Amino acid sequence: MRIVLLGPPGAGKGTQAERIVAARAVPHISTGDILRANVREGTELGATAKRYMDAGELVPDDVIVGMVGGRLDEPDAVSGFLLDGFPRTVPQARALEELVDGRGTPIDVVLRMVVDRDELVGRLTGRRTCGECGRVFHVEHRPPATEGACDDCGGALVQRDDDRDDVVVNRLEVYRTQTEPLERFYWERGLLRDVQATGTVDEVTDRALAALAAHDPGPAS
Ligand code: ADP
Ligand code: AMP
Repeated sequence: MRIVLLGPPGAGKGTQAERIVAARAVPHISTGDILRANVREGTELGATAKRYMDAGELVPDDVIVGMVGGRLDEPDAVSGFLLDGFPRTVPQARALEELVDGRGTPIDVVLRMVVDRDELVGRLTGRRTCGECGRVFHVEHRPPATEGACDDCGGALVQRDDDRDDVVVNRLEVYRTQTEPLERFYWERGLLRDVQATGTVDEVTDRALAALAAHDPGPAS
């Protein structure tokens, strides 16, 4: 199955992606994670991207589209994938459409995660991320077993530079102006499904998996 997770920063895309990919046996492709890995490894792409990321701006479309095109060519993505954080602009969505339609493997469904703005700000400013493995926690909603340390790898938890108050406000505005138009883009194509993304993480997962099952019963059925 080829799935796009759409929703503002802090909606819980990364959190739900981990669970959805386990249930649907597809790879999780997060453009934010790929960019952060490039920043950590000090690549040229990472150096270019960091300037935009730290300001809460979008990395230019041509850079992102080239990066995703390469990732979708990898063997694990041949029979399906879950895209998280891509596309984020109409030109990116058109480029994705060309890429997958050209191969006869169109996007099956776009899950739009719906959360109030006030809740988003609290989720983003309280988010803590493992500097080693990238796993995501929250100071209140999803605290680690040992304060400041990742439950999985023991790495130090840090606040992302772009989760600071001033950058968060810009990221939400960038979402509103540049990414929200995708809701119409995918609605017009009959692909958009809403998932109410408030409540516990388990409740949201149940809703997301139900939305996918309504489209395709999946491997277990
Ligand atoms: P996104 O990938 O959409 O930016 P994340 O999955 O990183 O969002 O979630 C943002 C923050 O909100 C994280 O700190 C995460 O632990 C927390 N979070 C995710 N889902 C929920 C939820 N259902 N209720 C409360 N907090 C949540
Ligand atoms: P995320 O982890 O999805 O919140 O992304 C973090 C940052 O990476 C964003 O604020 C952008 O600067 C950059 N980024 C991630 N995905 C994209 C994309 N599809 N297009 C442009 N920039 C992106």
